[in-house]
Order: sequence, then structure tokens, then C-alpha cells
Amino acid sequence: MTISGKSACAGNCEAPFRLPLNRKDSLFHDEDALFQELERIFDICYGCRRCLNLCNAFPTLVELVDESATMELDSVAKQDYWKIVDNCYLCDLCYATKCPYIPPHEQSVDFPRLMLWAKAFNFSERGASFRDRLLASPGRIGRLATIPLVAQIINAAGNSRSLRSMLHLHPDAPLPACHRDTLRKRRNNLVSSASAAKSVDTGVVLFSTCFGNCNEPDPGDDLCAILEHNAIPVALPEKEHCCGMPRLELGDLDAVEKAGKENIPLLAEWVDKGWSIVAPLPACVLMFKQWLPLLFPDDPLVQKVRGAVFDPFEYLVQRHEEGRLKTDFKHSLGVVSYHLPCHLRVRNTGMNTRDILSLIPGTHVEVIASCSGRGGSYAIKREHYEVSMELARPVVDRVRQVIPDHYGSDCPMAGRQIENGLANGSRAEHPLTLLRRAYGI
Ligand code: SF4
Ligand code: SF4
Repeated sequence: MTISGKSACAGNCEAPFRLPLNRKDSLFHDEDALFQELERIFDICYGCRRCLNLCNAFPTLVELVDESATMELDSVAKQDYWKIVDNCYLCDLCYATKCPYIPPHEQSVDFPRLMLWAKAFNFSERGASFRDRLLASPGRIGRLATIPLVAQIINAAGNSRSLRSMLHLHPDAPLPACHRDTLRKRRNNLVSSASAAKSVDTGVVLFSTCFGNCNEPDPGDDLCAILEHNAIPVALPEKEHCCGMPRLELGDLDAVEKAGKENIPLLAEWVDKGWSIVAPLPACVLMFKQWLPLLFPDDPLVQKVRGAVFDPFEYLVQRHEEGRLKTDFKHSLGVVSYHLPCHLRVRNTGMNTRDILSLIPGTHVEVIASCSGRGGSYAIKREHYEVSMELARPVVDRVRQVIPDHYGSDCPMAGRQIENGLANGSRAEHPLTLLRRAYGI
């Protein structure tokens, strides 16, 4: 495995690329190689500091060095490196928006890739706590919640202060609610795979995602209504499994591989029939677009699915450019404070959500492109909650200043985080919900 990639190019003379992370390589499991690379890159980042305001991983690094005996990285205890790793939630922002040293630069810095390597090594050596495993299993919890009364029990348990304390969840963090009335139940009348196979029409396969299915079913439901209004066929895959993102954040790459093996062949069949795949959660789209291809670069099905997965507004912009998106809006939205989530921002696909909402007459969209601090389950863990709310502060302050008619994010979790920061009883509204309302459908 090329660890530093130094051999790739002596200068930044080619387009940026990402070195794959090969788990089969013996160096992947070599603790000395990992710590050498952590030390090399931490040293560069300590000197550079461009990413200090992105998350708490970089401030933790600076603090550890500044408080060490020699104020140099070599006197920081290696055990403390894990504090930095623990503060990274793999949003990819440092790689995608800040770092001038990414491959092929001779420094070859890919901070998120290194964090993933460290998380995976840590998981394979030490496993994870019960809490962290639980938080990384939204699909399992969602399936349980469909049993009568279980959703109420899970929601009540999540609000119990003693249980939260036992699980090291912060008492003030908003936990996602479980719905019995899941998206897949609501939309079980969509085009079946059998009829889609016979149909000449192609459209959208909705990968509902476990969070979008059980915890936040409204945006997916709104997307179905919008697509149907625009005469675009919508189908559900016969079955789906968690995309693997929560397990990736844990470093459990076996579970990521298992999830990929369950989802990819099924989705690839739809792609072969000419259908596009749309997922209502930016993190899940990023999983198919970036992390799975990075982990399984030689798998042609992974590459095939990668090219056919879209974020909802990315897909709608394409239909608009083809003249296939109706603009028969009935209601204006006024001023919308729209939060662009990091998982979408790093894909560099433009301001699709803003562009579509701006088609609605009497609507002004104000974009906020800072991190909400949600970071998957980061914001609900007791040890990270305060930092996560601090990270969210610029976003929350901006919404307070603008006093919009509506606010929300493409990431429903980020929307809840902003709502929690505002703490004024208002509710975040997903842009798909707003678009559906503007159509009056
Ligand atoms: S990937 Fe995101 S969370 Fe991790 S270090 Fe980079 S900016 Fe911070
Ligand atoms: S990731 Fe790159 S830009 Fe960010 S601190 Fe490290 S070297 Fe600097």
C-alpha cells in the first residue's frame, strides 16, 4: 500500500486524486506504519492550521502540542492521538475545501483517509462501546420500531434521563424519533421492480435510507410527491440495507463491506435498466459516491452505482435543464435560510437546492455553508455535545439574524441541530417539504 503517495508526483502538477485505502495490504494492520503516518500528517497540520475552524480535530491537535513538554509533536503521548481521531466525523471538508497538500502534492495529505485508517485499526484492535455500536445501527432500531408499540417504547427510552446517562448520551441532545409509519410503508404502492423491468419508462429508484425510512420519513415522501407531479416514475428497491455510513464512522469496515454487498448488486440491476438512484440523505449519497469507491476501487458494480446515485436536488436540476421540471408553483416561500450540509458541499456539485427553490416566485434563498456540528452521532454523545453546539453557532446565529420565513437543511439531522441551537420552538423544514408546499401538492 502506498502510504504517503510521495512517489505519485513530485509536485502539484496533476488533477487531485485520492489514494485507495486497501484493507488487504499488510501495512493497513501495522500499528507502527499507522503511527508514523499520523505523526507525519499531524506535524504538517500543526504547522499549517488552515483547518482550525472546521471541526474539533484540529484544535485538539494544536492544544495537545501546545500543552506538551517541548511544545513539539514528538512529546505528545501517542495514546493522545486517539483524541484527535475521535473528534473527526469524516465530513471530508478539510480534504475537499481547504487542503493544498492533497495528492499529487509531494506532502500527500489526506486527513480524512488517515482518520478512517486510524478508526478502522482501532475498531479491529479494540472494538467499540455498546453505545457506539447502538448508535451505528439505525437500520436495526428502525426495523424494531415497526413492531406495534415498540416505536413508542424506543422514543420514551430515548427521552429518559437515566437511560441517557447510562449510555453517555447528552441530556439536551435531540435524539431522532422513530416512526412506525415508515417511508417504505407509506409508499408501498410505488412501481415494483417486476413492473419496472417490463416498463419502457425509466425514472427514480428511491433508496430511502434507514434514517429517511424510519426517523425522518417526510422528506422522502415529499420527494415522491414532487416526482409524481413531474410525471417521473418512482420505484422502491425490493429491499435495502443501511448504506454503512454510521459503521464507517465507527471504523467497522467489515460491516461497511457487508452493507455494500447487500445493496450494490441490487441497485446495479436498476442502473442496468436505465434508472437513477436518489437518496434523501447527503451522507448516504456520499457513501455511494465516495467512500465505497475508495474502499473497493476495483469493484465494477460499485463504480456503476457511483455514477447513477444523485442527491434529490441534483437530480431535479438535471430534469430542469432538460425542460422536464414543472414550474407551476402555487405558493411563494418568502425568505428561506438554507443550510448547505458538508456532505453535500464536499461533492462540489453546485448550489442545486438554492437554484431549484429560487425558481419559485416570491422566494429568496439565503445560503449558509458552515458546518452544523451534527456529524452523524457526534452531536448526541455526552463528550461532544457542547463542542458540536459551538460548531453550530455561526449557522444558528445567521438564522437568528435573517429571521427567515423558513429554515432547513438538505440533511434532516443538521436541521434538527439548528432547531436545537435556536431553542425557540421553531421547526426546521426540509427543502423537499418546502418545494412540495410551493407546488401545492
Ligand atoms: S474530515 Fe471533517 S471532521 Fe474530520 S478532520 Fe476533516 S473537517 Fe474535521
Ligand atoms: S488538512 Fe491540509 S489544510 Fe488542513 S491543516 Fe492539515 S495540511 Fe493544513
